[in-house]
Amino acid sequence: MSSPTNRSEWEQLAKSLTINGNAMINGVYKSAQSGETFDCISPVDGRMLAKVASCDYQDANMAVANAKAVFEAGTWSLLPPVKRKAVMIRFAELLEQNADELALLETLDMGKPIQFAKAVDVAGAARAIRWCGEAIDKIYDEIAPTAHNEIGMITREPVGVVAAIVPWNFPMIMACWKLGPALATGNSVVLKPSEKSPLTAIKMAQLALDAGIPKGVLNVLPGFGHTVGKALALHMDVDTLVFTGSTKIAKQLMIYAGQSNMKRVWLEAGGKSPNIVFNDAPDLKAAAQAAASAIAFNQGEVCTAGSRLLVESGIKDELIQLIAEELTSWQPGHPLDPNTVTGAMVDTQQMENVLGYIKAGEDEGATLVQGGKQVMADTGGVYVQPTIFSEVNNKMTIASEEIFGPVLSVIEFDGMDEAIQIANDTIYGLAAGVWTSNLSKAHKTAKALRSGMVWINHYDGGDMTAPFGGYKQSGNGRDKSLHAFDKYTEIKATWIAL
Ligand code: NAD
Ligand code: MN
Repeated sequence: MSSPTNRSEWEQLAKSLTINGNAMINGVYKSAQSGETFDCISPVDGRMLAKVASCDYQDANMAVANAKAVFEAGTWSLLPPVKRKAVMIRFAELLEQNADELALLETLDMGKPIQFAKAVDVAGAARAIRWCGEAIDKIYDEIAPTAHNEIGMITREPVGVVAAIVPWNFPMIMACWKLGPALATGNSVVLKPSEKSPLTAIKMAQLALDAGIPKGVLNVLPGFGHTVGKALALHMDVDTLVFTGSTKIAKQLMIYAGQSNMKRVWLEAGGKSPNIVFNDAPDLKAAAQAAASAIAFNQGEVCTAGSRLLVESGIKDELIQLIAEELTSWQPGHPLDPNTVTGAMVDTQQMENVLGYIKAGEDEGATLVQGGKQVMADTGGVYVQPTIFSEVNNKMTIASEEIFGPVLSVIEFDGMDEAIQIANDTIYGLAAGVWTSNLSKAHKTAKALRSGMVWINHYDGGDMTAPFGGYKQSGNGRDKSLHAFDKYTEIKATWIAL
């Protein structure tokens, strides 16, 4: 079947879709043991999509027991890397072959435009799985530099049972940045998608089985954080907990780990990333385009969103004007229209959060330049205009808290030192942009920024080869690149006397 090319063809496909809301435990789709479900409501138009299994500790116990048993049996964990590689590549191919259905599930479930669901989310998820699969038979262990009568072997082993708890903004990519290295290194995984976006994870579980990942190696438990998420985080047989989500929950997970088995905890958390534009930026139009997309793409629901625009005073008015013009092409539209670039917010609650921040901006004296309103309410969906505030100071709520919506705070500065001071004056340290023609200033600023990623004269670059993660309260450890494998392996030192 050929891919839909317009909104009505996508709507047609949506009608023919059977949506699965079950958990996958040990290779079998199941209801929650309690029988509980929750409603999956589409933010596109308020329509009910499916009843989804609301898993709790009973399902967590069962999934972890199966994951542990299959790990110990070695059906996956002891396979030669070259064989795991082949299965991973097959899994990536199946994600690509099912791109239309996966993209559609994602758009219906969390509101993002269909073109990006397909070209960004599905493609990025498949790339992550393939990249990690391709890497795994090319990584060698180490031999220590010893005396001639001994051998020191330094080997990596999978940690065992990995619980992965992920957010809703890029559901497939966030899951696959964990599944790629976790599965490639031989672990068993229990994946808990966000209650706001469970559908693609449920579908991926079937594709993983079809690809040849043995049953029990990838389990998927939809449900809430305070029930099944907490149960996984407290579980005595979960060896490693990997998380992407808010800083608030990340901190809670460290407590759960300490209260239980001291499981390893790796956290990709929030951000309030500065995008610094100096007077000598090489191309102000390019900077404006990047700044607009850095706050509007994915409805601003991006951990690395360039939500604080730090602009040097000489170009402030011109840059704001250019960004305002750019944002006119980022107005919300129907997510199933292939031309739409801004879709719905993930749910009503998230829209209310964003509108609440917009009100706080006005109350605290920032100047609303553009946007600020809910739109398309007649659709039954939840849509917010891209919004710009100027005259923001870094202490205001809209400059200090992560909004996770399309709200840009413009903060003026003079000179490199002030830019760096404001940029680093945050609890977060995920990403930063720097725009300048001066090589020395670019490097000095990049070095001074306390953040895991720095983008010079562009915003949001990188691919699977570049580590992704933050300093400070943006988290620890890194997704993507070979550095991600550190989270999923233990290092063993074996010393042999000859
Ligand atoms: P969230 O922290 O509310 O939820 C994330 C996940 O944790 C969900 O699956 C949720 O069900 C689960 N959870 C909630 N409470 C829990 C508990 N007590 N125990 C166990 N699990 C629990 O975050 P969100 O709203 O889903 O996502 C938005 C956040 O994610 C933002 O802060 C964003 O910056 C962050 N994020 C970070 C990155 C990154 O790579 N650094 C990427 C994407 C999103
Ligand atoms: Mn949803």
